[in-house]
Amino acid sequence: MVKEKVCSVEGCSEPGVRSFARAKISEALQKASLTLKSGRSRRAYLCSEHYKIYKKQTRKEKRVNKWRYGT
Ligand SMILES: [Zn+2]
Repeated sequence: MVKEKVCSVEGCSEPGVRSFARAKISEALQKASLTLKSGRSRRAYLCSEHYKIYKKQTRKEKRVNKWRYGT
């Protein structure tokens, strides 16, 4: 069964165009003030709009990687 993929960002119902490991994108999205919908799946999907935001965010992150805060 193939379920339709919907963007995993809270409040968004656009179709997901890319799939990611949830853990990988949740942090970057949080920095952009976006939250992922809660779910049991380890995969998360982003629509084209949120994918753009995610990409921007990760690009920024690479730059500050050197002096990022410890967790
Ligand atoms: Zn979205």
